[in-house]
Formats: sequence, structure tokens, C-alpha cells
Amino acid sequence: MLKEKNLQNKIYKKHNSFYSFNKNEKKNEKFIIKKILKERENLNNFNSLSNSHKSLLDTAIKDLLNPNQDRHNIFKLSDNVISEIENIDDNKLLNYLVHRYRYEIFPKKKIIDEFPPCLQIEPSSICNYRCVFCFETDKTFTTKKNGFMGTMELDLFKKIIDDAEGKIEFISLASRGEPLVAKSITEMLDYTKNKFLNLKVNTNASLLDEKKCHAILQGSVQTIVFSADAADKDLYKKIRVNGDLNKVLKNLELFQNIRLKYYPKQKIISRVSGVKFSKEQNFESMKNLWSELVDQVAFVEYNPWENTYLRPSNDVIEPCSDLWRRMFIWWDGKTNPCDTDYKSYLSVGEYSNTNISSLWNSDKYKKLRESHLNNNRKSFNPCNSCTLI
Ligand code: SF4
Repeated sequence: MLKEKNLQNKIYKKHNSFYSFNKNEKKNEKFIIKKILKERENLNNFNSLSNSHKSLLDTAIKDLLNPNQDRHNIFKLSDNVISEIENIDDNKLLNYLVHRYRYEIFPKKKIIDEFPPCLQIEPSSICNYRCVFCFETDKTFTTKKNGFMGTMELDLFKKIIDDAEGKIEFISLASRGEPLVAKSITEMLDYTKNKFLNLKVNTNASLLDEKKCHAILQGSVQTIVFSADAADKDLYKKIRVNGDLNKVLKNLELFQNIRLKYYPKQKIISRVSGVKFSKEQNFESMKNLWSELVDQVAFVEYNPWENTYLRPSNDVIEPCSDLWRRMFIWWDGKTNPCDTDYKSYLSVGEYSNTNISSLWNSDKYKKLRESHLNNNRKSFNPCNSCTLI
């Protein structure tokens, strides 16, 4: 059996990932803090922030200057964040830090403002893979007549982007399906150009072609994540069912060649990220294979996404961080607090009838957050059986 049984009920913290960075990536925290302090003195950039964001920024800087404070909700710079900062233009750095602080610390301090720190937009719920740990293996989800499968219309996508621009800086084009399946994906990428400080795309890379590589590289994607969990052809196929490691390797080579030839100065982080859930997977061999082609290689912890609704209730009472961190808009406009609940039992509304801010502050969302804060997440299905905190 590939899956490690004892991981099924382990508390899940999404950010328990481990990374490997290519040698040429600098990760000098002191240098970055100096740069932040210099930018803080630039009143043009500082004064362009709202008063509430100025105060968040100063709290973030205070935390960075007092790294030994014994608090769990102190703002720190992880290696991953430092890599992102190295790619941010100096005049955007303060704004990036404000939004990074909202992303990291709001879920810890349970702060809500007008907009989610991160918005995940789903170009497609359809996927060409059936990875063993993924909800795409649930036939009640993928059977067409049940209505969960589809791709986003370009008009809806544009409406969401217009709504988010200038208010949310962390956007992911990904959720339940493979984004490159969406027929308008290149137009979508084009429409996001120069609009966000942290735009991320997650893909299994199997459908990459020249046109899509150019669309990713000439747009404003700051991080492209290629999902892959093995360095061995057979193991890859066993995990990423329907996948072909050689094809993905060729596609990544294509991406890298186009990047080097046409966009050598483009500031983009490329990462291979796998889900670590089996002893057969080896991080060293992952690094050996992929680090020639991408800037970073990572493993994230496994969470049993594939059987959300079949898992027994558990005793977890800590609030779920996602309720303060991100909101998901599916391809058809249905809006959800997470994608663990891939069938939207917890849906907070339809985007088409309203807007991001109203959904994020809706009564349904408030009720869900209150229940979690009152140690009563078990009154919601599937929070009752989910281990994310
Ligand atoms: S199911 Fe509930 S606890 Fe789990 S990720 Fe979603 S909102 Fe959080």
C-alpha cells in the first residue's frame, strides 16, 4: 500500500513544507531587513499605503527587529518569503510586506478585514490526472452529470480580477482541477498582467506547450509551481495516475529553454512541489532530478484530501487557519472557504450575485468562523473530520 496509514489523522499544518533552493539564490535575512528599513524611510512609498496598512507594516518591521520574542504570532521571514522579496521591485516592497503580514499573521491573530489575504481562483475543476491523494479520484465528484466539472468563462474571470485588483495581492490560479485545461487560460494570464504582487499558478505541467509557456512568462506570474512527487518513472505513474514523467520532464525543459531564451530577466520563481506521503519518495532524488530545471524543489505534507467525506469525526478543536487566510472562487462562481470541502457543503455564496468583500464578510462565513473560535468546528461537515488547523 503506497499510502502511509498513520498520516490519516495527523494534525495538518499547511506550512510544514520543506524546500531546497538552488545555490545561486541568496537567502540573507539581514540584508533583506536592511533593505526593508531603507524602503521604510522612503516616504513616497510609505505614504502610498492606507493608514491601517502603515500600521500593519510597522508591526511587521517591529517583529523583524525583535526576532526573539516568545510569541507564536510573530512575523518572520522564511527562506521562501526572502526569495519572493528578492524578486519584488523596491517600490513595491512595503506593499508586499503588508500583504505577506496579512497572509501569515491574520490567521494567527484571527483578524478579518475587508478582503481575504489570498484569493484562489479556479480556472478549471477538471483534471487530466487522477493522483492517488486527490479528490479527483472521487467519482461522485468527477461524474459530469453531478455538475462539479467545468471551466471558468473568461468574462467571469475578468470580473473577479477587476474586483480583486488593488485590494488583494496574493492570488493563486488553481484549486480543484488543472488550470491549463481551461480553454481561455492564456487570455486569463494575459488579463492579470501587472495587477498583483504575488500571482501563483499551480500546474501538473502535462499540458504545457509553447503558447502556455509564453503566456506564463510574459504575464505577471511571480511563482509557477509544477506539481510532481517522484524522480522515478514508475513511482511517478503510481502516484500521478495518467501521468508520464518523461513528458513532464520534456515540458519543463521547454519552459526552461523559453525562459532562458526569451525572458532571461523575468522575475519568476519556478518550483517543483510534491506531496510527501509515502516512504518510497526520496527528497534527495527529487532534488537531483528537478533542480536542473527549476529554482526550488519542495515537499508539502500529505493531507487526506481524497476522502474528505468518508473520514470519521475527530477531536480537533483548534480553529482552521484557512478561514482567516484565503477564499476560493470555483469555475462557476460558487465560493467556498476551502478546497478540502471540494463539494462545497460549506459554500458561502455565489460570486455572480455579489462581490469578494461581501462574501468574505458574509453571515455564513462569520458563523463558520465563530463556531471554530468556540471550539465547535464539529458542528460543520466536513470540518468535523478535517485535521487542518
Ligand atoms: S473543511 Fe473546515 S477545517 Fe477543513 S480546511 Fe475546510 S474550513 Fe478548514
